[in-house]
Amino acid sequence: MALFPTYLRNGIRPLRGKGAWLEDEQGHAYLDFTSGLGVTNLGHGHPRVQQAVEEQVSRLWHVSNLFEAPWQEQAAQLLQHAGGLERVFFCNSGAEANEAAIKLARRRAHQQGIGQPEIITFTSSFHGRTLATLTATGQEKVKTDCGPYPAGFISVPFNDLAALEAAVNDQTAGVMLELVQGEGGLIPAEPAFVQGVEKLCREKNLLFMVDEVQTGIGRTGHLFAYQGYGVKPDVVTLAKGLGNGLPIGAMMGKEELAEYFGPGSHASTFGGNPVSLAAAAAVLTEMKEADWPRWAGSLGKWIKERLQEELRDHPWVKEIRGMGLMIGVQLDRPVADWIVKSREKGLLVLQAGPEVLRLLPPLIIREKEAEQAVDILVNGLWELQEVSLDESVSGV
Ligand code: PMP
Repeated sequence: MALFPTYLRNGIRPLRGKGAWLEDEQGHAYLDFTSGLGVTNLGHGHPRVQQAVEEQVSRLWHVSNLFEAPWQEQAAQLLQHAGGLERVFFCNSGAEANEAAIKLARRRAHQQGIGQPEIITFTSSFHGRTLATLTATGQEKVKTDCGPYPAGFISVPFNDLAALEAAVNDQTAGVMLELVQGEGGLIPAEPAFVQGVEKLCREKNLLFMVDEVQTGIGRTGHLFAYQGYGVKPDVVTLAKGLGNGLPIGAMMGKEELAEYFGPGSHASTFGGNPVSLAAAAAVLTEMKEADWPRWAGSLGKWIKERLQEELRDHPWVKEIRGMGLMIGVQLDRPVADWIVKSREKGLLVLQAGPEVLRLLPPLIIREKEAEQAVDILVNGLWELQEVSLDESVSGV
């Protein structure tokens, strides 16, 4: 009763986690296909990350604003190496990383003489819950009674290049795009669309910003999803998987953007704190050495194909889609019952909107665990359909 009731509760109280598994108070084990909302990409309690964090905690937890701190340099170097983007700003969350990107786009626009800069985002996108990122978000259902909303955001239909071209005007400062819409229903951007967005941004001198808060850190089969699209964004935002559970966000940007954020122009008290950075550095090293993104790509393809095969004739299933280990099952009815059913059988899954089931397993899952999850999902969905058939026959 002490908490504001902002979160929907899923009915379990996990006490500990290891790898792809969570255990609750009663000792029940659950295969975790939520990864804490796409965060624990290396699973729970990953030894390399744990060791790095413990080592850092034993030395130093926090110094404000990291003057000359070596670990910030090191983590930034790792990200540069990974992303091909030369500058990094560290913060604490995805919304905060996107706020930094929005401010950067606005600052750049102002310096180029644009008085009322506009950022274009897309329908069904999700960029965060702070007021600016909420306004940038293309889902009306999350914008409830929080107005007035900040000006300077325009929403156009996702995957529609002509609509984007028509929306660009002399005040447009940049475009913010998710490459696979996560909260919006696991909808991948079409490659031709993404390449068209990049080309348009170059022609019109717009900042091309990619929100990889959910797609980043290996989930789609590449360390960053943009690498799979063959584009080079000006700005990429990260959070979730970067710290594997420790709060950290990052905005990466091209070298030439550094001039728009001078000393004192932007900051965050905890941003880039030593403990979160130790976790992030260990995550990036592990991703590189073990090549988990590649595993995510191949196992994700296997899961998607198995689900497509086993559920092809299921009357409720409309589509199975996604990229890597970011998989969505689109039903023609609410998925809530299915989520409860899976939980009863020991599998935790998420939803993305009322009718899309969202699978975000950790990248380290083994084939055996993936098989177990697919069986639970497939059997559960067929069982529910049979129950509903029986009920309709008996007139319940
Ligand atoms: N962008 C995307 C694409 C996201 O999926 C999310 C979180 N679901 C956010 C931004 C916001 O991240 P955070 O909750 O860390 O602020």
